[in-house]
Amino acid sequence: MSNVNTKYQATVPLEGQKKLLWRYLQGLFFLIGLGLFMALIFVPKIGVVAFWNVLIPVAPLLFLVASGFWRNVCPLASVAMFPHHLNLSKRKRIPLKWQGWLALGSVALLFLIVPARHLALNNDGLATAITLAFLATLAFVGGVFFDVKSAWCSGLCPVHPVEKLYGQKVGFTPPNAHCGACHNCVMSCPDSTPTQMEKMPNQRTTQTIATTLLTGGLPGFIWGWFHVPDCRGAADWRECLVAFGLPWATMALTLGGFVLLRKLLPKNKETLLTSAFAAASISCYYWYRIPSLVGYGLFPQDGLLVDLTQTLPLWSIMAAQVAAVAFFGWWLVLRHPEPAVWAMRPPFLVKKK
Ligand code: SF4
Repeated sequence: MSNVNTKYQATVPLEGQKKLLWRYLQGLFFLIGLGLFMALIFVPKIGVVAFWNVLIPVAPLLFLVASGFWRNVCPLASVAMFPHHLNLSKRKRIPLKWQGWLALGSVALLFLIVPARHLALNNDGLATAITLAFLATLAFVGGVFFDVKSAWCSGLCPVHPVEKLYGQKVGFTPPNAHCGACHNCVMSCPDSTPTQMEKMPNQRTTQTIATTLLTGGLPGFIWGWFHVPDCRGAADWRECLVAFGLPWATMALTLGGFVLLRKLLPKNKETLLTSAFAAASISCYYWYRIPSLVGYGLFPQDGLLVDLTQTLPLWSIMAAQVAAVAFFGWWLVLRHPEPAVWAMRPPFLVKKK
């Protein structure tokens, strides 16, 4: 089984001081993650703001420009890779069929966890910490049984589909700091393959469904999500219905539009269509997220980082929104850079005879 695209096979072994530097960075981000986790439990007011209103709003921009950097230092990735680095992993290979199911599972997790933010997570540090602990346990157990990044980072992680969608034209390619040698653990490797949103030769139907659901559905999902207020207290069944129902309904609308356009447009426009929907998703996110960070949101107390309504005029926020949309359109749709990978593939593992 080979998922190697010879054109992009620059292999860079990570050695010496560079390796040490990445280990320090991984340690630093792990400690920051642990600190956030503790803050969510013991000082939840600070924890929820730091997690939901600082870290999460920065993440899409980071995926756009440097997905590989984030995948090298993500604290959950470090948890998933502990068994590998500590030689505790059974290093089983996940069959292609199961890789497809994991891809579908990761999109399902994303579309389940994000609406739950309105019901509890956005304002409840303990609930957020429990969710993170659950995901970290899944990541660790996946690493105990399966090889390198196959079970979590390139499998069930609910952030991975978003990295794939936004990280189509990254501007920065670091070495792969987790994979000392490539075990060819997944097919195809998201870290080492450019244009991962395109259909791969051995792609399973489940993977195609996952990609279509995400690309077509995310713009509508994000729009719907921002039109639901946070619950402050125990949510009743009506609030649950709105929190899940509205983003899913608007997701169905844009998904329908995407599927229709894909049918109508010539095959060679599919990549452009995917880029346009990716740009629509991230633009929609920041269109609502920028004002809500400073108190100009649809629901002023939701997602507030610092209230600047008395300091910043409304027009400056609107200018920032327009600039963000223009930037994402240019980055993802108008720009045509050389295809780039998220991280340089390390040399392949040579098995001793
Ligand atoms: S570089 Fe190789 S070992 Fe690392 S995630 Fe990709 S396929 Fe797996």
